[in-house]
Amino acid sequence: MISSAEMVQRSLASVWHPCTQMQHHEQTPLIPLARGAGPWLYDQDGWRYLDAISSWWVNLFGHANPRINAAVIKQLETLEHAMLAGFTHAPVIELSERLSALTGHALGHAFYASDGASAIEIALKMSFHYWQNQGQKEKQEYICLRGSYHGETVGALGVTDVALFREAYGALIRPAHLVASPDARQAGAGEDAQAVALRAAAEVENVLHRRAGQIAAIIVEPLVQCASGMQMHHPLYLQKLRALCDAHQVHLIADEIAVGCGRTGTFFACEQAHIWPDFLCLSKGISGGYLPLSVVLSTEAVYQAFYDADIRRGFLHSHSYTGNPLACRAALATLDIFAQDDVLARNQAQAQRIMEGLQSIAALPQVRHLRQCGMIFAFDVDASFQHGPSFARRIFAAAAKNELLLRPIGNTVYLMPPYVLNPAETAHLLQATEDSLRAVLREADGAYDAARAQQSAAEAAA
Ligand SMILES: *Cc1c(COP(=O)(O)O)cnc(C)c1O
Repeated sequence: MISSAEMVQRSLASVWHPCTQMQHHEQTPLIPLARGAGPWLYDQDGWRYLDAISSWWVNLFGHANPRINAAVIKQLETLEHAMLAGFTHAPVIELSERLSALTGHALGHAFYASDGASAIEIALKMSFHYWQNQGQKEKQEYICLRGSYHGETVGALGVTDVALFREAYGALIRPAHLVASPDARQAGAGEDAQAVALRAAAEVENVLHRRAGQIAAIIVEPLVQCASGMQMHHPLYLQKLRALCDAHQVHLIADEIAVGCGRTGTFFACEQAHIWPDFLCLSKGISGGYLPLSVVLSTEAVYQAFYDADIRRGFLHSHSYTGNPLACRAALATLDIFAQDDVLARNQAQAQRIMEGLQSIAALPQVRHLRQCGMIFAFDVDASFQHGPSFARRIFAAAAKNELLLRPIGNTVYLMPPYVLNPAETAHLLQATEDSLRAVLREADGAYDAARAQQSAAEAAA
């Protein structure tokens, strides 16, 4: 077996890691993993880490899950892959039927890709092409929300509003119309989440009033804008969007890549608004975090607009691994677990326990806006560092020492755990999160001491 040090050195020399300034690894260590089991990742030296963010939000039922393993192994011995043009196979048929049924057959046509950004590209292209086929050739623009994240391919960046990911590529990107985020944290005095939702929807209405004739679609992350810091909104916003899209003949694209698969409490986030979009994108959790798979579900009306003798009116997007049987089997095994284990009901009780456990963190003077939606928990931390690594990198390092995988977004700490934590693992999640946060706050530039002094003064006065 090669040593950890050698693994790290060889990785840094040959592997270009994602979402990483490689030079930061001169200070922040890379962790060489050996294996995973349930919610735990084990490194080469036997240290373990509770995967509190489901390995970038993909892993729903733990690592090396016996049921998903068995399904993939069985498929591996049958048909590992075949092209999906001109051929079909049981896994892709079963998965398409199951997903259609989960939408009450409102979204009965499934188009597959391998990653989330590609699903977004497909939805954007399908919407555009739909309007071309309908003779509405001037509908070529999109609307997206402030703080939106829809992936990092060039097309997806056009509807993504995260400066850090866009900045360097500005000249390549075809921008969309930006409208307000309905983020409930913006509520002013006497306002609630619904009022913020209505205010944000009014801005969409304004844009549609002016330009609906040029707009193909509006794209939204239903209920939680995850990548820009777990910004949560009221389902009323989605109802308003659906009504506005209907009134102005514009498509609604729901990006459920992060929020789908039970993450917000219902299988699809859109269910909480009692609406269906024209396109629904899924990825991340759909394969249980096993294999790259994404899917765009669409309506009969969309499908019919492409159904024609003329090949050019068809949707020709071609991808080599479309509908990969192994990935589809992993997805089917994932859906089986949802059905067999009453996952959504169990998660509801689990979410309540986690929120109760987070109250002691919420009481810290530097912590703001503890919030929750289904199995997403987040809070913002008021701490700054003039020198050295950022807050997020410090928490990552502190958490690793406490047997925990955390990866904050800026100063927002979030938990998106897999749906399998037992009581001891839940207790570890909460304790290690608090311990890591307290350790980093102790290093913060003055902010911590000042806040402590203020709190002590307030307590003394009370
Ligand atoms: C992660 C994510 C994507 C992109 O998915 P990739 O598989 O990383 O390309 C798109 N939209 C949302 C909402 C996401 O969270």
